[in-house]
Amino acid sequence: MVPGSLIYRNNHKNYGNDISPQLHSHIPANHPRAESLLIRNMLVDGYKRGLVVSEGLIAHGRGEAFDYLLGEKTSNIAHIAIEAASSALMLARYPVISVNGNIAALCAKTVVELSHWIGARIEVNLFYRTLRRERIIKRELKCFGAKEILGMSLKSTAVIPELQSERRRVDPSGIMKADTVLVPLEDGDRTEALVKMGKTVVAIDLNPMSRTARSANITIVDNAIRALPKMIMTVKKLRGLKQEQREEIMKRIVKEFDNPKNLLESLSVMRENLA
Ligand code: ATP
Ligand code: MG
Repeated sequence: MVPGSLIYRNNHKNYGNDISPQLHSHIPANHPRAESLLIRNMLVDGYKRGLVVSEGLIAHGRGEAFDYLLGEKTSNIAHIAIEAASSALMLARYPVISVNGNIAALCAKTVVELSHWIGARIEVNLFYRTLRRERIIKRELKCFGAKEILGMSLKSTAVIPELQSERRRVDPSGIMKADTVLVPLEDGDRTEALVKMGKTVVAIDLNPMSRTARSANITIVDNAIRALPKMIMTVKKLRGLKQEQREEIMKRIVKEFDNPKNLLESLSVMRENLA
């Protein structure tokens, strides 16, 4: 049992089903950095296919550095945040998952699977928005079984107040309407704006010091490629609870979750690894 966790029992590595076999091909299985190289390959492949922009590769670099400090595994602290995040999303009236290029390249399949389990809409939201990239990302998500993709330019007529970038444009049937938004990889100013709008924001961010991590209601300090499959496992476990108790347990998990404390504890994990 993970200490502090109300339901989590497993701690094994699981990247879901997002890794395609051909991306493995030229990385020797016994290479000491095989997993990290494989994730880089997925991003580079996503870049070549037009899902990811060059800036996304740099953002991944920042994430990688923090992942190195985390020991490239999901900490017990992150598991606690994963439970709170999964509970909040299951309790939500209208949950939405926001997807950018990096997430489409790394986690398209798990995003779609999670959306089915929690009944969430999927919205594409890009900092560097082009019609072509939107379409490529939409196709990628549909390829893995997504039924409807929100956030396409023509439909993104609502505007998040105070934001200047292209990410201010959102779908009135998606993020604008949502009570709870999952933002794996987000910009700090948009996270702050979504929280100000009264939404519950769940972030996945490897940097516990980022504005995103600090302003979200629940932050999972972990690599999205590990965290999302674990969220699916957690949602399945929560759904396995007796219906009469489930809602009460999930509410308790969310209420007991303390984001600033969880962020400090994630920093401690990094400090311990450094020492
Ligand atoms: P903020 O805007 O929140 O202050 P930032 O400006 O430092 O953050 P951005 O460039 O906006 O960072 O976004 C990159 C963020 O995404 C970084 O914090 C990085 O740690 C995180 N990140 C990159 N790849 C992943 C990943 N695969 N999983 C989780 N987090 C990631
Ligand atoms: Mg930023």
